[in-house]
Order: sequence, then C-alpha cells, then structure tokens
Amino acid sequence: MVEIGDWLRARQAEGTLRALVGLDHLGHGRVRLTGSAGPALLDFSSNDYLALSEHPALIAAASEALHRYGTGAGAARLMSGNFPVHQELEQAVAALKGQEAALLFGSGYGANVGIIAALMGRDDIIFTDRLNHASIYDGCRLAGAKLARFRHNDLDHLTELLASRRGKGGALIVVESVYSMDGDCAPLRELVRLKERYDCLLMVDEAHATGVFGAHGGGMIEEAGVAGGVDLAMGTFGKALGSYGAYVAASRQMIDFLVNRARSFVFSTALPPAVAAASLAAVRLIRQEPGLRQELHSRVALFKECLRQGGISADLGPSQIIPLQLGASAKAMAMAERLRTQGLFVPAVRPPTVPEGTARLRFSITRHLGEVDLAAAAAALCACCPR
Ligand SMILES: *Cc1c(COP(=O)(O)O)cnc(C)c1O
Repeated sequence: MVEIGDWLRARQAEGTLRALVGLDHLGHGRVRLTGSAGPALLDFSSNDYLALSEHPALIAAASEALHRYGTGAGAARLMSGNFPVHQELEQAVAALKGQEAALLFGSGYGANVGIIAALMGRDDIIFTDRLNHASIYDGCRLAGAKLARFRHNDLDHLTELLASRRGKGGALIVVESVYSMDGDCAPLRELVRLKERYDCLLMVDEAHATGVFGAHGGGMIEEAGVAGGVDLAMGTFGKALGSYGAYVAASRQMIDFLVNRARSFVFSTALPPAVAAASLAAVRLIRQEPGLRQELHSRVALFKECLRQGGISADLGPSQIIPLQLGASAKAMAMAERLRTQGLFVPAVRPPTVPEGTARLRFSITRHLGEVDLAAAAAALCACCPR
C-alpha cells in the first residue's frame, strides 16, 4: 500500500494534485467559483452539448415521474426495480441505434466495466484503441482477457495485431466513435470490415456522439451507416442527452445474455424513474428536433472560424470537442488560469487523463453558449494564445 501522506505531498509538489472546486451553476452555460465575487464564467467544460439538461420537456417529464413514483427505484431491475419507463426507454434507444434491443446501466462507467467483463475472459483477446476511456480499460482489466492496444485510430497497426494475435478464442474490438479528449472520430466503416474479416465482436462507445451526430441523433454509427455491423452500441445519457445513466443497444440475444451476466447491471439499483423519464424525453427530442443538432454544429463552426481568423493554425478537428495541445501540464494550467481572468472556464486536461507531454485545454461547445459568447471567447483566447 502507498503511504497516503507521502503520496499526497508528492502530487502537491509536482503540481498534479487534484481537488474539487466549488462551482455555482447559474444556468445558460454560466458558472461562478463558489465564494468568488468575480463575474460569471462561460462554461467550456460541460458535455451538455445540446443544452437539454435545462430543456422544459426533460424537466416536465422528470417532475411528472418524480411526483408519480417518488425519488428512487428502490431495488435492482431484476428485483422490484423494473418500471415501465425503463422498458420504454430501452425500446426508444434500440430504435435510435438501429438495434433489436437495449439495456440500461447506472452510468457509462458501470456499463463499460460490466459489458466487457461479461463477454470476455482469460482465453479471449481485446483489441483496444490506446486512447479509449478509463472505464473501457477497467472493463478489460476486470475481464482478465489478453489485451492488444493499437495506436490511436491506426488501422494498419490494428490489422497487424489482428493478424498476429487473433488466436482461437473470442475477440472484441472496442473503440470510441468520438474521442472524449481529442474530439476526433474512429474510422467505423473500416473497423466493421476488419471485425468481419477477423471474426470479432465490435463495441463502439458513443458517449460523445449520440444526439450530436446522425440524421436522427443516432450517433456516428448512424452517420456512417454501420448500425448493422456494430455488435454493441454503448453510450451515456449524461452528456448530449442532458440526463444521467447509460445504455447498450445490441441483438436481443446479446441483451438477454447481459441481463444475466453483466454484474454492474445485476447487482446495482435501477436508475430512478424520474431520471429514466428525462432520458426518454431526451431521446424523443433528439429524434424529432434535428434543429438542436444543426444549431450546435453551426456554433461549433463559428467558434472554429473565429479561432482560425484569430491566427490559430492547429487542427481543430471534426467535432464539438476542440483540444488545444500545449504540452507541459504547467503550461496548460497557466493558460486555463489566464482564461479564467478573461471570463472563460476551460479545463486543463493533464496526464494521466491524457498521455504524458500532451496536456491541453479542452473546449467543449454547448448550445448554452450563444454566437456572441463564442465570438468573444475566441477573441479572448486568440489574444493570449501562443501561435
Ligand atoms: C463519460 C464517458 C464514459 C462514462 O460515462 P458516465 O455515464 O459519465 O459514467 C464512458 N465512456 C466515455 C468515452 C466517456 O466519455
């Protein structure tokens, strides 16, 4: 065991100690450090991309369910915690994702850990993108399967590993569709071809894509037209869907299996009905109102255009997540601090969340931020950014 006091002092000394900051949420994408007298800051750290967490339809659905069912589900789904709203939500998600069925989880973290550990074991191998989310890594570790990590989005490297290590056991390829810290996208069509050629399961984490991409908000899987080639389409309700919890959509048989075998599903209390009701309202909204998505994308385009005109030449990527790599942690921290004095709340993302030497500012664009906000923020950033 580590000596806790020493460990904390060492992190403090190297400037990597993390601590919670109190934040007052003022609505409409504004936050203020608790106790500070300063002006409100524009929040560039939220993943509430479509601003659905403040949408009247979600609030109405949640409060109706809250008054009808109370605050908690009271038990796991396999006990007495299964409410009609859970099943309605699963049907809606299955339709959104072009799959036969779906299953809810308490969180995306729990979903990834539970799904991967249920499917894979000692005789199997998991091919995982190096930049995959921590919850995917933890699922792989819990599964006890062999691990083949391929360089980020590198199909040649993946093919090489498939050819040399595929073996006779089960095999899973797992990727994110939009990468949470880089904002770039997985080559889904090519991955489907590879998974067919090497007879693997393909799991796609759509945490940052569902609601944001696809004609009906079905994510990159819909955008790329590969729903039929994806075995497990996982995602969360806590980001663009403005709620909380997570899901996986798959074949009926796969879902029946996970109901029995995914331990983070079996041994965990069902999502509160009011939370599921908010998620259901969100799924309906993203299908019915493509304007929400279009508005987000046009604001993302505006922000990127302002940065380019302001002289920032870095690749700003294809999505609503815009990383600005700065290298050293201290540099990213100093930049975040400076932007705070300019009225912008932008997280500095540092190792171990991202690889050593790639500390960055991560701008997450949401519909909370209007065009005027975004143009002003881009100007402030350009004024203090190294070219
Ligand atoms: C946020 C995130 C998760 C975890 O989802 P939660 O619902 O927040 O637990 C999983 N995968 C990716 C890629 C994420 O960005």
